[in-house]
Amino acid sequence: MKITLVAGARPNFIKIAPIIKAIEKKQAEGADISYRLVHTGQHYDKNLSDTFFEELKIPQPDSNLEVKSGSQSVQTAAIMVTFEQELLQNPCDLVMVVGDVNSTMACAIVAKKLNLKVAHVEAGIRSGDMTMPEEINRIVTDSISDYFFTTSTWASENLLKYGTDSEKIHFVGNVMIDTLHQNLDRITKPDFWNKFQLSPENYVILTLHRPSNVDEEQSLQKLLLGIDALAKDKKVLFPVHPRTKAILENTSLNFNNIIYVEPQGYLSFMYLIKNSFAVITDSGGISEETTVLGIPCFTLRENTERPETQTIGTNTLVGISIEKLEVIYNAFLLNGKRKSGIPELWDGKASERIISILLNQC
Ligand code: UDP
Repeated sequence: MKITLVAGARPNFIKIAPIIKAIEKKQAEGADISYRLVHTGQHYDKNLSDTFFEELKIPQPDSNLEVKSGSQSVQTAAIMVTFEQELLQNPCDLVMVVGDVNSTMACAIVAKKLNLKVAHVEAGIRSGDMTMPEEINRIVTDSISDYFFTTSTWASENLLKYGTDSEKIHFVGNVMIDTLHQNLDRITKPDFWNKFQLSPENYVILTLHRPSNVDEEQSLQKLLLGIDALAKDKKVLFPVHPRTKAILENTSLNFNNIIYVEPQGYLSFMYLIKNSFAVITDSGGISEETTVLGIPCFTLRENTERPETQTIGTNTLVGISIEKLEVIYNAFLLNGKRKSGIPELWDGKASERIISILLNQC
């Protein structure tokens, strides 16, 4: 079986690393399986791309479509045009897409129109929020995929509700957590650890990149000043996403606690998360990682496509107002950590399950 594996953005790179390892393991056992890795170039900053290939030992892509930035439509169209050429020149049996970025949807559409099978890893999750580009990407991708690999029974049930054939849905666990398991003993202290006098639990991690939080400069400033104040005696380490950096470029704010740093590589970011007091974020993936690591996570969004991080894990959905964050964070300071668990099958073996299923069924 020839698989074309697609990755375009930071969270994709983290998700494909264990899938490649699982394919290579089966190859070593003599299975008839090969892959071609296509990087669409949606994320191209060294900090968001190359570093992840190096640290997670992902092989160099066989092809890089180099689409770079653009509006939603410009980027999606560029991926489709270039990926069609890629597939015509390099035929395969199945295209595997992961997550919910524009590359996921664009490549699924192209593959399906060339009558190829499509496998979607992280299928079925839904925020119910149609203002998120990711939600549209999820719905479109799931409407044309042939194999659906899910991270929860809730995601599988969502797919059933939309009429997906139950035989095509496979609850396998979470490939992002495979990567966490495979790298926990490699996580590394960042260079600035001593410079900023960081020590376990004397800091909070902050990440923000969703348009609803960062695109409006005034509200972003209000949010940051509010977080700086509520942190009290904790430092707030803020790896600034390029989208957020562009908005903050001309703003100078005086902080007591917030420290700006560059987006971190995977190994230092996981070191920082694992040793943090708490995390404030609008990321989906980070709420999964904090769940597994048992770190309190406060999500600055009105909804989540990963409800198990709240019902089982450490995540609290805050909303997007600083006032709500203040109430919830201060209650947490009084009450301490709540008990949490790890969702079913988030055991580090999801990628192996995916590849075994494909080898049995294709
Ligand atoms: N991440 C990282 N360094 C950073 C911020 C994030 O390595 O400075 C990793 C982290 O593991 C996270 C993943 O990137 O799970 C994806 O994060 P992002 O918030 O970009 O995407 P989302 O999960 O919201 O799709």
